[in-house]
Amino acid sequence: MKSSFNPFEMAQQQFDKAADVLELDQATRELLRNPLREYHFNIPVRMDDGKFRVFRGFRIQHNDSRGPCKGGIRFHPQETVDTVKALSMWMTWKCAVVDIPLGGAKGGVICDPHNLSAREQEAICRGWVRQVARNVGPINDVPAPDVMTNPQHMLWMLDEFETIHGGRYPGFITGKPVGMGGSLGRTEATGYGVVYTLREALKLIGVDIQKTSAAVQGFGNVSQYAVRLYQQLGGKVVCVSSWDQSDQTSYTFRKEEGVDVDALLAITDHFGGIDKAKAAGLGYEVLPGGAWIEQDVDILIPAALENQVTGDNVGKIAPRVKVIAEGANGPVTPEADKVIKQKGIFVIPDFLANAGGVTCSYFEQVQCNMNYYWTQAETLQKLDEKMTAAFHAVAELAKKRKLYMRDAAYVISVSRVAKACRDRGWV
Ligand code: NAD
Repeated sequence: MKSSFNPFEMAQQQFDKAADVLELDQATRELLRNPLREYHFNIPVRMDDGKFRVFRGFRIQHNDSRGPCKGGIRFHPQETVDTVKALSMWMTWKCAVVDIPLGGAKGGVICDPHNLSAREQEAICRGWVRQVARNVGPINDVPAPDVMTNPQHMLWMLDEFETIHGGRYPGFITGKPVGMGGSLGRTEATGYGVVYTLREALKLIGVDIQKTSAAVQGFGNVSQYAVRLYQQLGGKVVCVSSWDQSDQTSYTFRKEEGVDVDALLAITDHFGGIDKAKAAGLGYEVLPGGAWIEQDVDILIPAALENQVTGDNVGKIAPRVKVIAEGANGPVTPEADKVIKQKGIFVIPDFLANAGGVTCSYFEQVQCNMNYYWTQAETLQKLDEKMTAAFHAVAELAKKRKLYMRDAAYVISVSRVAKACRDRGWV
């Protein structure tokens, strides 16, 4: 993925800070700074024109001391091993911060689904599983969808895994379609999870959510559900933004009285791109992509991509901003993070704020193992409890040890994983 930083080095630097606070010994540092296992492989595919193409695939298992590895599979033309390694490490911390019994992994294939037929994508999915079928599975590593992969890809992967192993193993993979082992509530889970933690943060700093406004970057899965729930709780979202594929740039769509999710959804493609001409017709101001960060609001929710708040634009954040809830993974660069910390803005760090997705994936696995499925209300209730408890554990530690929220979240996660490694006698 395009990035101004090496994401793996950034993940290691963040880990090193927590290791210093925890005074971790050298062996534990070495064990947790790098993935336990990496699989790099080729996936040969016969294309629709009859010719063969070879795609590069990965599965990186960072740590499984607390339970089977868990993490998505990305399809992206600019995928890099270092991005996958960083994301696998962040998955370990994410599962640990919400205290679910899972470790961290991530996978990927260098490919562009925009230019592949459904049959070719199916062949890549099946080929990916064939290469790692003995290294993944319900008791050692459970994949899920991620950038440009969806429930259909998961079902093809499940079918291949079950064909190889000769049985029904719905707990092998999550993010499956509802009715084929998927969980109700999974679609909403990440965006709602962001807002459950935001709701608790506002209570903690004594701000009435009904008197707040927010600016949101992105209008995909995370953003759409975050905006919906936040507005249901009485907040006002003044803008969202999205990537315009035909112009190869992003735009911000602003409406001072608050955006209308349903009206915007009706003019949004399935990649989360809003039609700018139609938005203007609905009375939205169409501003440059970077305008979301400059809004005079109480809350910022970056929910698009990594590296979006940088040294270049962090100075544009309005003095009124009190909370940044990181819906995306790694949206703030280390340079910008220092400025945000100095400004005293309350940050809900990415691997806490967006952990709703993996928590619901864990619930999906639990339901698959029971072969009994919960209602949507039951799933979301359990999700709210988990996210709320995780938020307060981090906030209490931050208060007690006078730590920045991101550092407190790292300290909790790393200490849980380090303890599991020590208890198992690994270090
Ligand atoms: P998505 O693909 O559904 O939506 C992404 C949105 O961002 C789209 O609206 C797109 O137009 C917009 N976008 C892309 N580039 C942009 C740019 N330069 N400026 C403004 N907008 C831009 O993705 P998603 O599932 O909503 O994920 C968003 C982020 O949240 C990613 O960082 C992802 O890794 C993270 N995340 C997602 C989940 C999940 O369950 N979906 C879970 C955890 C973390």
